Amino acid sequence: MKSSAFQYELPEDLSAALKLLDSNDMDILPLAGGQSLMPMMNFRLAQPDILVDLNKIDSLKNITIEADSVKIGSMVRYCELEQSEIIQKHFPLIIHVIPYIAHSAIRNRGTLGGSVSLADPAAEMPSILIALNASIELSSSKNTRLVNAEDFFKGIFETDKKSNELVTSINIPISSSPKKFGFYEVTRRHGDYAMAGAVVTSDEGQDSFNETRVILFAVSTKPMRLIKSEAALNGNNLNNQDAISTAIDAVNGNTFESDLHNDEATKETLAKVSLKRAIGGLNG
Ligand SMILES: Cc1cc2nc3c(=O)[nH]c(=O)nc-3n(C[C@H](O)[C@H](O)[C@H](O)COP(=O)(O)OP(=O)(O)OC[C@H]3O[C@@H](n4cnc5c(N)ncnc54)[C@H](O)[C@@H]3O)c2cc1C
Repeated sequence: MKSSAFQYELPEDLSAALKLLDSNDMDILPLAGGQSLMPMMNFRLAQPDILVDLNKIDSLKNITIEADSVKIGSMVRYCELEQSEIIQKHFPLIIHVIPYIAHSAIRNRGTLGGSVSLADPAAEMPSILIALNASIELSSSKNTRLVNAEDFFKGIFETDKKSNELVTSINIPISSSPKKFGFYEVTRRHGDYAMAGAVVTSDEGQDSFNETRVILFAVSTKPMRLIKSEAALNGNNLNNQDAISTAIDAVNGNTFESDLHNDEATKETLAKVSLKRAIGGLNG
């Protein structure tokens, strides 16, 4: 099947793109790397009247340090993130996780802004951004606002972004104390979307859990931050098995969603396995 007919626009700058998004009576979609949108259009799951291609907007392609945070333009591709010295220096977690996202051909085109905007519950980056306390910058022709990543993801393919807004950048604070991390995901084959996954971050240079963040992905409608697990770990030694068991038990009682491959109970089990292994990975 091929896509339905659409009007194609290739704006040269951000203001021209935002102006195009202002036509209220039309279904308008931005095109980033096209790795998700093109298949969706070909299957006619998306049938925009107008496609606004962001690929010529150079101002969305930079990675810069601004005061105490790193600003990543929404059109930065995964392969560029991976090669960035700024990202390598400040966010080794991102560098670690990128190879888990799809395959290199997809990472050569796919963008961070595309992943954030799509809000696939099985995607890695939304949870990584919550773990790193990132903010999402949204721009319309009239306004620019910042939304904490934790508040941005609302449900399956659903975010806080309005139809006349673009994700323009992702901003990640450069933490005063660097973070150590553990990451684990269950997939059928390397590069597939995860069936379940977990990321855990904690302050570097300490023998105990401190400022810990625990997030699960691919088990619910959106990233699942586990505040009770974080509380169980914080202040305890990294090898405290009682604290770790309590943190894993705190997975119980959350709402898990089935998908094509796994029912809710299996998702819960996979979530616990992922979390246990992610916590175990903190030391290594
Ligand atoms: C075979 C395959 C396997 C994959 N596996 C994984 C995986 O394991 N993990 C994973 O995370 N992803 C995976 N993906 C998805 C891939 O990472 C996508 O490229 C990514 O999620 C979307 O990025 P994109 O730049 O291609 O966005 P596009 O496909 O261009 O756009 C996606 C959506 O976001 C909107 N959009 C894009 N940019 C913006 C913006 N700046 N502002 C507002 N809206 C915007 C578009 O209108 C569209 O609705 C896979 C894809 C494929 C085809």
